[in-house]
Order: sequence, then structure tokens, then C-alpha cells
Amino acid sequence: MIVRWGLRAVDALVVGGGPVGMLATHRLIAHGLSVLAIDQRPDATQPRYSVVLHPASVARLAAAGFDPTPLGHTIERIAIHRGADRTAGCALAEAGLGNAVTLPQHRLQEAMDATLPIERGITMASIRVAPPASTATVTDDSGEERTVRARFVVGADGIHSRVRDAIGATFVDHGAADRFVLAELTGDVGFEGELRYGLDDHGVSAAWPLPDRRARINIAVGADDEAPTDDDAMRAFLRERAPWCAIDVEHVDWATAATLENRLTDRFAKHGVAVAGDAAHSANPIPAMSLNLGLAEADAIADGIVAHDLAAAMRPFDAVAADLFGRDRSGSEPDPVQRRLRASLPAFGDDAARLLSALR
Ligand SMILES: Cc1cc2nc3c(=O)[nH]c(=O)nc-3n(C[C@H](O)[C@H](O)[C@H](O)COP(=O)(O)OP(=O)(O)OC[C@H]3O[C@@H](n4cnc5c(N)ncnc54)[C@H](O)[C@@H]3O)c2cc1C
Repeated sequence: MIVRWGLRAVDALVVGGGPVGMLATHRLIAHGLSVLAIDQRPDATQPRYSVVLHPASVARLAAAGFDPTPLGHTIERIAIHRGADRTAGCALAEAGLGNAVTLPQHRLQEAMDATLPIERGITMASIRVAPPASTATVTDDSGEERTVRARFVVGADGIHSRVRDAIGATFVDHGAADRFVLAELTGDVGFEGELRYGLDDHGVSAAWPLPDRRARINIAVGADDEAPTDDDAMRAFLRERAPWCAIDVEHVDWATAATLENRLTDRFAKHGVAVAGDAAHSANPIPAMSLNLGLAEADAIADGIVAHDLAAAMRPFDAVAADLFGRDRSGSEPDPVQRRLRASLPAFGDDAARLLSALR
């Protein structure tokens, strides 16, 4: 059942209309719950940078009626390079996986938003978490304030999550931040259908083709490095720092250098309230791990709400650090490059283990 803005008591309040909140909204409505889903942004047209949707996410989204394949570029294989030399690779199918898809994030969001009743321009100002129902104060663009009571709350409200704070969770640092030059380029891409990695002393870098003769690069750099400032500087940067990255650059669409924290919530759920996606973790952007894990969490939260056992549904995600940060689940510490590579693959859990063993 769809509940429009104005009703005050709902089964579930979803805070955040990014991909994770939208998938949770879809799943909860499909289960017959009354859902109020809100987002403070006026529309779904941001962000515009590109992401990698893992094979598991492509399947998950397709099962929910949002197949991203026609919207993006299909990735069928991965390849790993040191310098200009290819050292390993495999087809995703060799690991028993389907294809990944790369696309600008807003394309996915706009497609999902077109069929979902997300109430945009509505901000959750505060929330009191308590059994059997939580109480949220929300405001619209005119500043009008309303109160919503919800038996369940999904916090898909991104990195500065208020829902995470409200369940008393701490966003814990997991090791040093990573710095990358991030850019999207137009030009001929010499590795269509491939997610390509480069390993060097700075860590793990990656590039992937996008629709429309475009490509995305994430190049690991030092703490003080900045992004190249024009097309020629970008060509020189790639020749020197990423000889594996076979892109004949016509022009740079955008480029920036960013230092990205590695953080994970120390609690996923409390009293019918759960966090997912960037509200729960932030990590290396190469494989969009936070987004892809978030889609799995959205599914688990919906199942947990329907089964009336949210805590049990979220328990598998206590081991999420292994996938986000490349930790070895056995407790031993793999070498740093292998650790980063593992956390950069377009897969997590058992899929990642199969993908690593298929590499040759
Ligand atoms: C600057 C930046 C650059 C990034 N670059 C990349 C990249 O290049 N590649 C990549 O893979 N990943 C990147 N990421 C991460 C990726 O975008 C996220 O992992 C993904 O968006 C997570 O989806 P989500 O649904 O969990 O959260 P989000 O997409 O962040 O959605 C959260 C939503 O909650 C809404 N919201 C927040 N607070 C409230 C509130 N109080 N009330 C109502 N609504 C609220 C926000 O408006 C937002 O729409 C980047 C993230 C940032 C911030």
C-alpha cells in the first residue's frame, strides 16, 4: 500500500531516496506495508558520477523490476595490470557470476524514482527511537513541521545519517584514508566490456568504460597529489601513472582528487530501526562497495521487517568489514595490495572469493 504525504502513522518510514532507500521502499511496498519514503533533495538527478553495479546488484535490481542493463555499459570481465603488463584476469562467468553494469548513478535513480512514491523536498529533522514505534519530526520546503509515527524506520540517509546517530551507533574509522584522482573522460576506450585494475606502490587503481564513449578512472595517489588541471595534463598523468589505462583522451569531463575515509557503523539496527548503504559505511569508491552492499542490506531489512526480526536479518552484515576493507575473514592479515584488490572487486562475500580464485 502507498501512503501519500500527510498521513501520520505508517508501518515503515524510509529516510533517504538514494538507490538504497528506493530499493527498500520498493520491497516494503511489495510486501503490502504502508510506507512513507522521504528525501530532502527536490529530485533524483544527483549525483551524476558513475558507479559499478556488481553482478549480484544487477540481479537484485532486475528482480525488483529495475534492470539497469539497458541504462549502462555491460562489464563481462576483469583484468589486472602492473605497469603496462597484464598479470591476471578472468571473465566474470568463469566465477559463475553474471555481468556487472557501469552507469552514471543518476540514471539508475531517475529510472527507479519514476515508479516509486518518494516524497521529495521533505527533511527528517529529528527522530526518537523507541519500541513499539519511533517518532520522527519532518519538515517540508515551506518549513511546515509534521510528526510521523512508524513501527519500522530504514535509515538510508547517507554518510551524515541522523538515523545512525539516533540508534546510538558510532561511525568507526577502519585504517587510513585513501586518496584518489577521480575523473570521467570522453574518448576511445581500449577495453570495452572490461573492469581494468592497475597495481603500483600507491595501491590499487581502476578504470571502467561507460556508455557513450566515456570512461571513469580512479587512480590511487599520494596524500598531497592533486588532479591534472587540463586535457594535456591528464594525458601525461595517465601515460606516467597508469600505463595500463588504454584511453585515447579527447577531453576531460571532470576531474578531482579526493581523500576517502574508511568507516563502518558499530551497530546496524535497534528497536525496529536499521541503517543501510552510506549511512552504515563509507569505503574505497572503486567498486562502489558501499552502494552495492547497501542494496543487499535494503533487501535484508525488508525481509527482516516482514519476518519481525530485523536484528537477525542484519546479523550477516556484522562481517561486512571483510568485504569493505579487504579483511581476511579468518583473521590473518593478507598483504596490503591483495587486501585492497579484494575490496576493489565487483563482488563481496562468497562471490568475491570465487572471483579471486578464478583469476589467472
Ligand atoms: C561526493 C561523493 C562522491 C562519490 N563518488 C562515488 C563514485 O565516484 N563512485 C562510487 O561508486 N561511489 C561514489 N560515492 C558513493 C556513492 O554515491 C554512494 O555509495 C551511494 O550514493 C550510496 O547510496 P545510498 O542510497 O546509501 O545513499 P545516498 O545516495 O547518499 O542517498 C542518501 C539520501 O538521503 C537523503 N537524506 C539525507 N539526510 C536526510 C534527511 N535528514 N531527511 C531526508 N533525506 C535525507 C539525501 O538527500 C540523499 O538523497 C560518492 C559519494 C559522495 C558523497
